[in-house]
Amino acid sequence: MPRYDLHCHSTRSDGLLAPAAVVARAAARGVNVLALTDHDEVSGLAEAQEAAARAGIEFVCGSELSVSWEDLTIHVVALNIDPENATLAAGLDAIRSGRSTRARRIGDALAAAGIAGAYEGAKQYVTNERLISRTHFARYLVAAGHAGEVKDVFKRYLAPGKPGYVAHDWATLPQAIDWIHAAGGQAVVAHPGRYKVSAGGLPRLLGEFRDAGGDAIEVLSSSHTPAQYTEFATHARVFGLLASCGSDFHGPGESWLDLGDLPAMPAGVVPVWKDW
Ligand code: AMP
Ligand code: MN
Ligand code: MN
Ligand code: MN
Repeated sequence: MPRYDLHCHSTRSDGLLAPAAVVARAAARGVNVLALTDHDEVSGLAEAQEAAARAGIEFVCGSELSVSWEDLTIHVVALNIDPENATLAAGLDAIRSGRSTRARRIGDALAAAGIAGAYEGAKQYVTNERLISRTHFARYLVAAGHAGEVKDVFKRYLAPGKPGYVAHDWATLPQAIDWIHAAGGQAVVAHPGRYKVSAGGLPRLLGEFRDAGGDAIEVLSSSHTPAQYTEFATHARVFGLLASCGSDFHGPGESWLDLGDLPAMPAGVVPVWKDW
């Protein structure tokens, strides 16, 4: 059984390793099929694809799209996309274009909360001018001594309801799914166990996702507990969605799981790769 890891990040978004280094690490750790899924970006895929050919592993072109759904931000992973597709490229461009303004507003919000210079500080951690994310703020705030580690920064400053949080309109769910399909890909709800949905919110999200043509959900994710593996396998079956798996690796020492560190897919689900 090949080892799949279908969700991870490079320096083209908020990961710590360059695309080729992510691939080399995955290959060294026994991954046979890898998807690079940078946030709202496809610019690392060519480098990763070449590295995968050199390393002798299979490579899947991916991305992770930011979506606004009800009052939440949802992530939709795209798998097996054509990175050259114009519809998808325009969609990703639209999602990314708001990030710089949002980052300035995050800086202003943190300044109002007593932390000056965070925008300039975060910029020092940005590795792709087109993609500034909350993770870059988090790394700066750790380095500046405002928290012990990245996840504490989110808890204290960057999560909804905290002083540095700035709400943002990303793509809609149908838009993201349509762009992914236009590029020949499959749309996957990323880490469904992570969303702070109200009662009934999760079935509503999965129902809307399926009705808009969505293909799969991540059953195995570093954001999920073993109990949630079972829970989301059941959701996949009930909603007639395929099942995906990904470490969501961002970098050594900064992630819950390393590349390829995923258990076997629970029985009774149809994997997202069944027709690959
Ligand atoms: P953004 O797309 O700019 O809103 O940033 C989202 C990114 O922040 C996610 O992809 C994660 O990498 C990171 N993130 C979000 N919440 C947390 C958290 N609680 N702990 C650590 N990283 C987080
Ligand atoms: Mn991220
Ligand atoms: Mn995500
Ligand atoms: Mn991710």
